[in-house]
Amino acid sequence: MTRLKMKRLLLCASIVLNVLLTTIIHTSAQHSGVTYLKGATVVDLTGRAPFQANVILRDGQIESITTSPTVPPDGHVIDVSGDYVLPGFTDMHAHVTFLRDDSYSSYDRATSEQVLKMLLAYGITTVRNPAAPAVESVRLRDDVANGKILGPRILTAGEALNGKPFSTEAEIRAEVKRQAAVGVNYIKVYANSTPQQTAVAIDEAHKHGLKVIGHLQITDWPTAAGLGIDFVTHGVCWSASALPPQKRYEYEEEVRHLGPMKARIFWLESVDVNGPKMNRIIKSLKQHHISVDPTLIAYKTKFIPMERYRGKQNVSLAPRAMQESWIDGGFTADWTPSDYARMQKAWPKMLEIVALYYHEGVLLTTGSDLPNSWVVPGISLHQEMELLSEAGIPTQDVLAMATRNAAAALGLDREIGTVEVGKRADLVILAANPLDDIRNTRRIKYVVTDGKLFQPGSLLTH
Ligand SMILES: [Zn+2]
Repeated sequence: MTRLKMKRLLLCASIVLNVLLTTIIHTSAQHSGVTYLKGATVVDLTGRAPFQANVILRDGQIESITTSPTVPPDGHVIDVSGDYVLPGFTDMHAHVTFLRDDSYSSYDRATSEQVLKMLLAYGITTVRNPAAPAVESVRLRDDVANGKILGPRILTAGEALNGKPFSTEAEIRAEVKRQAAVGVNYIKVYANSTPQQTAVAIDEAHKHGLKVIGHLQITDWPTAAGLGIDFVTHGVCWSASALPPQKRYEYEEEVRHLGPMKARIFWLESVDVNGPKMNRIIKSLKQHHISVDPTLIAYKTKFIPMERYRGKQNVSLAPRAMQESWIDGGFTADWTPSDYARMQKAWPKMLEIVALYYHEGVLLTTGSDLPNSWVVPGISLHQEMELLSEAGIPTQDVLAMATRNAAAALGLDREIGTVEVGKRADLVILAANPLDDIRNTRRIKYVVTDGKLFQPGSLLTH
């Protein structure tokens, strides 16, 4: 038997074992119906200081948060004294319908299911899937909702509108209608969409009651804001119009000659963080209540030498098919050491920009942009929180971005985002205080989704 075969066999054996374990915990929690989290320190993320209480979960909801020691007769007691109970985390940018290559036809359902369990294991109980094959994503979302498979609650967009192949007004409207009929939650507009095309997509989406997520570049953020976009993704727009006028031509030349990814080095070097262009962007985001998921981890993994990520323990935890899709080196495979050195030098400006959004009151959320190269499901959201913390955002507010802010941005703040009576029992239970150190969000003892309690180890299949 080759080593590879042996490895696969062991992997299979561990999958079977984990499936068994998962089933056991799953059914035992479901049987009781009521879970009594005893002696918790509740970090409820409403703004209140942490407090001691017992938390009772019934039928997938938080039934009470109480100092009374009376355990309900049907209660399944979990001792969490010394532990911290928080709302489950949200990854606002998780392409959970895994594609083996860039084509929507390369959808891989088995890996997608593995990704969902991984996300849960890392405390993520809600994801927004911001561009994906519509039919398959809606099916995956509904299979989680119906309890057929295990994973975070999914909200999903369909295929991104990117100028082509839907370029005329009629084509764009027809495609939005089709996706709406399939049952997507959002419409996604991508980088090559012109202002005219973006306007049509937004108009048609809103007619169907669907909000629009923009990963935009040709259409700049203030323009999109004026057109009624609901969300923008990624920390910066990379648009020429965001640069000081004297830098624009050179940037456009770089995009033409070096391609958009390498030109980003010049963009970040040239952007005036406190200048009038950034100011206008921030004003437009605030005025139109547009939330942003900065996805710093997706930038960081691209912009610093890939060797730093290869072979690291994190990467080996990603599903095999995902690791294989990263072998070609991603979007920055052609960068030279000096390109990386320049980008690393400019990198602090990225953190400054995100910190500026924060200080100016832009609604920020947390997203990873998995499965971009080396963006490992689950772990990457914790890395994102660490990067937001590194940008100077207070720990309490970083935690709010991953919970309460995300819920508000998704319009789900009555259901999730805080630990309060009547909310969905989507929780994460940590062995250490995340307010002391954001890295403590990784010290997960239990994850609760829809009232069902799991130990992370039971959800990881390798
Ligand atoms: Zn994305």
